[in-house]
Amino acid sequence: EALSETGEPSSMSSSESGTKRKLRVLSGVQPTGSLHLGNYFGAIRNWVLTQHQYESFFCVVDMHAITMPYKAKELSEVTYKTAALYLAAGIDANTSKVFVQSHVKEHAELTWLLNCITPMNWLERMIQYKEKARKQGENVGVGLFDYPVLMAADVLLYQTDVVPVGEDQKQHIELARDIARRFNDQFAKRARPRVLREPNPLIQKDGARLMSLEDGTSKMSKSAESDFSRINLDDDPKLIEKKIKRCKTDSLKGLTYDDPNRPEVRNLLTIYQLCTGKSKEEVIAECADMNFGTFKPLLTDAIIEHLSPIQKTYNELILDRAYLDEVLTKGAAEAREVAAATVSEVKKYMGFTQP
Ligand code: ATP
Repeated sequence: EALSETGEPSSMSSSESGTKRKLRVLSGVQPTGSLHLGNYFGAIRNWVLTQHQYESFFCVVDMHAITMPYKAKELSEVTYKTAALYLAAGIDANTSKVFVQSHVKEHAELTWLLNCITPMNWLERMIQYKEKARKQGENVGVGLFDYPVLMAADVLLYQTDVVPVGEDQKQHIELARDIARRFNDQFAKRARPRVLREPNPLIQKDGARLMSLEDGTSKMSKSAESDFSRINLDDDPKLIEKKIKRCKTDSLKGLTYDDPNRPEVRNLLTIYQLCTGKSKEEVIAECADMNFGTFKPLLTDAIIEHLSPIQKTYNELILDRAYLDEVLTKGAAEAREVAAATVSEVKKYMGFTQP
């Protein structure tokens, strides 16, 4: 069972008035390319498994996607693809709110309000900014610097209790907590409940962090240049076979999870384990005496089989723009209701006139 760090042992939260509501969860993926197995096993599959336990908000964070160089002509297409893959993977749009970040203008509005109370030096410490900025040299944009405040706004808008994140995003959730506390202390010291709720990261301890197929050591990522470094959720069986054939391997006999000199073995065994649903022990027993020649066809089949139902649904959904628009319009309307209430409160406490 998921635990929030507030110590509340369930997925319910108590409000001041004593009424209970489901804990809120918010998460999103940037539409920066096709979703891959890492996004699926590291994030989306967990959303699917816990979506009914929480009140869930899942967004396609397109405003984050434009903080790095991107192709304007492709943004809309990739946004639809990402939303369709959420649904194909099993997100239930009847109970979860599925929406596109830019459709709820309060994300931009709250970001500006929070910008004005966030010290520059809090952002200068962000590790992800430093890493991404290094790649861009002098062209690095203000938007990339401000990315963590936009992410704080995403989370704080919905009074989110729990944000499932990888270890790499933990610093951003800490920042969102700091910004919420600063706002509450500066503008609404006596307000109960606090105007902005401090979110808790939910670090997926058993969450799979999948690595590049080409080296086994760098993170499998949408924006990595080579398409052969990842398996995309919409790769057809032929392409999956080709990618597995080409991924880094050797001709040694014996496949184990813990050979430090062959990190790619661990990565591929993990993918096999996740796609087949077998336990680690079962995979060890099955594969310990194999070499890659025998293992690769098994792995290929396991991936194709696992992705097949997702792809079948995805291929139908991606052609049905009217349906996708309907889901996203409904999701945005539901999200906006919560978001607008938060922005209105924030503006009131910040001293704005209320029309
Ligand atoms: P980009 O390359 O554009 O940064 P990304 O593939 O790293 O994209 P994000 O959009 O940054 O993906 O992240 C979406 C979600 O997927 C996050 O919850 C993140 O923790 C998870 N995720 C991304 N890559 C992996 C991976 N290789 N293994 C496990 N989880 C991953």
